[in-house]
Amino acid sequence: MSQAPRIAFIGLGHMGGPMAANLLRAGYALTVFDLVSSAVEAAVTLGAKAADSAAAAVIDAQVVISMLPASAHVESLYLEETALLERIAPGSLVIDCSTISPDSARRVARAARARDIAMIDAPVSGGTAGAAAGTLTFIVGGSTEHLERARPLLEKMGKNIFHAGDSGAGQVAKICNNMLLAIHMIGTAEALSLGAAHGLDPKVLSEIMAKSSGRNWSLEVYNPWPGVMENVPAGRNYDGGFGVDLMLKDLGLAMEASLETRASTPMGSVARNLYALHSRQGAGRLDFSSILRLIEGRAL
Ligand code: NAD
Repeated sequence: MSQAPRIAFIGLGHMGGPMAANLLRAGYALTVFDLVSSAVEAAVTLGAKAADSAAAAVIDAQVVISMLPASAHVESLYLEETALLERIAPGSLVIDCSTISPDSARRVARAARARDIAMIDAPVSGGTAGAAAGTLTFIVGGSTEHLERARPLLEKMGKNIFHAGDSGAGQVAKICNNMLLAIHMIGTAEALSLGAAHGLDPKVLSEIMAKSSGRNWSLEVYNPWPGVMENVPAGRNYDGGFGVDLMLKDLGLAMEASLETRASTPMGSVARNLYALHSRQGAGRLDFSSILRLIEGRAL
């Protein structure tokens, strides 16, 4: 691959938009496509070239990066409706950063291999702030050789790059992480709610637990109680951040994965049900830390 490969970037949402922006800032030539034209325009103002379809975006591309919502979108893009793998030149590299089912990731990677296209699954952790700051964690599934080809690009968008194993392994690791994240977010909301019901100041209680054995990321970095911490979604009515419906999707993936292997995931199952209830009550687009409102029995 030449020093600066031409890149097609597909999916410019909350995550893909800032990730593409970091590649543009690093000097890469990007052709971009999203179903939402305002997202494309935002990338164009940073120097990207707009394409009017995914198929048009991959013409001449040596690397294709996608950041789409879920398995159905990724399979539709690469295999079904758009059948992009038939348009991508053999020898190219595909990096799918979406969080999707390990099965879907393996299916697309198999089809890519059959066309002599390299592919890695590279879901991310670090949220929209990490995407903007270029400090994402990439959790990669695929061969070492393909990961090494992708590394220079991943380094422009992230800080930590882990190789979890073969195709699909990145997705498995990501799903395990997000199941644990949901569980400790709910537990943190529950503990703060109990303390507050007994008259404790949630800020003081957070400080105590952060220096005690209950400490965890939801408590210390992403506190769900409004006013305890600045610059977190709880401080802006749970706007932005990582949506309840995306968390619900990831918990659904965890449940599917546990069924496949008969792994026991009782807490993950409770977490999926609580997030499903929260979503049904209208919280789907709020940040996932808004689960505090469900625990507190408060209106949205
Ligand atoms: P998003 O909904 O903001 O963005 C997805 C984008 O994909 C949208 O702009 C949509 O128009 C576009 N899209 C859908 N189908 C398309 C198609 N066929 N062709 C072109 N564009 C298409 O979602 P997001 O928050 O950016 O999340 C993307 C992925 O990253 C998800 O799998 C999510 O689970 C994962 N993720 C999100 C976060 C977060 O904090 N938001 C954190 C880690 C991982």
